[in-house]
Amino acid sequence: MPLNILFAASEDRWQAYEAPLREALSDIGQGDANLALDIPAAEVDYIVYAPSSEVQDFMPYTRTKAVLNLWAGVEGVVGNDTLTQPLARMVDDGLTQGMVDWVVGHTMRHHLNTDLHVMNQDGKWRRYVPPLAPDRPVTILGLGALGRACGEALAGLGFPVTGWSRSQKDVEGLRCLSGDEGLVQALSDAQIVILLLPQTPDTENLLNAARLDLLPEGAVIINPGRGPLIDDDALLSALDSGHIGHATLDVFREEPLPAEHPYWAHPKVTVTPHIASETRPKSASRVIAENIRRGEAGEPFVHLVDRSLGY
Ligand code: NDP
Repeated sequence: MPLNILFAASEDRWQAYEAPLREALSDIGQGDANLALDIPAAEVDYIVYAPSSEVQDFMPYTRTKAVLNLWAGVEGVVGNDTLTQPLARMVDDGLTQGMVDWVVGHTMRHHLNTDLHVMNQDGKWRRYVPPLAPDRPVTILGLGALGRACGEALAGLGFPVTGWSRSQKDVEGLRCLSGDEGLVQALSDAQIVILLLPQTPDTENLLNAARLDLLPEGAVIINPGRGPLIDDDALLSALDSGHIGHATLDVFREEPLPAEHPYWAHPKVTVTPHIASETRPKSASRVIAENIRRGEAGEPFVHLVDRSLGY
């Protein structure tokens, strides 16, 4: 019998994903699958899912073998008590490359102080020679699919990169730290800090006043992870005091960031509208199809979320 695959995401996403998903399903021998925006719950075999979808009660999906999240972040679904089916998050080459591009770009902006020339073309001959990359320590909080790729890319450019994660890692070319003591070390010499942690109860307000204080004077924060990782009031006061030199923020507690939020007008804050990286339909469709292939072959799913950890 053909598989029933529910696409539980917006019409816009359907336009972008329908063709690549059909192609990827065909490549795994499921070309006759019924892929649709609406299928009776009790008949659904797999759900391709965006947490903003109308599907919030998973109880009626009695034969569903897995919920396949379209995004890397799962904070919008992981706490859903009705979800008893396996939940996989998105790990996609296209998403990873996009994040590497964004992180490297924003790191280089601050490293080279590009703004000095871009924003000040006023007839003054401002000579500024930045330090070389090996003299600019960078710390990445989170060494998962995205943090590790960004860390490796920056290390490849010559930056001394420290990565911090929950479990101890061993990544060639990176100083890897973990635990509370590791976090203190990771922050104490970081001139640029990049947050690529998931949003969980353990990571909320991780960058608080005390931890911002650990950073050297003038350090730069780059947050493409999630807004709640940072204590906003603490960051604003560290920016105002001059302790933190700049913050480039892509993600916020409330999105879109309200027009009256102090971040918008702050001279030391750059706001980007949650565009650091997007799941790419073509490569992401292959990841979804691979998990469906695994489910049908009785093989373990990849990129499963650990509900107890929340990511
Ligand atoms: P992963 O799950 O692969 O990696 C998460 C990393 O964070 C792991 O290294 C993990 O440690 C670490 N971590 C989690 N909890 C803690 C903790 N309490 N203390 C220390 N380390 C912790 O996620 P991805 O790399 O794929 O994505 C990271 C985040 O990036 C996503 O959750 C999402 O919020 C964000 N994102 C933002 C996008 C944007 O456009 N702005 C786009 C895509 C993702 P360990 O390795 O030990 O498990």
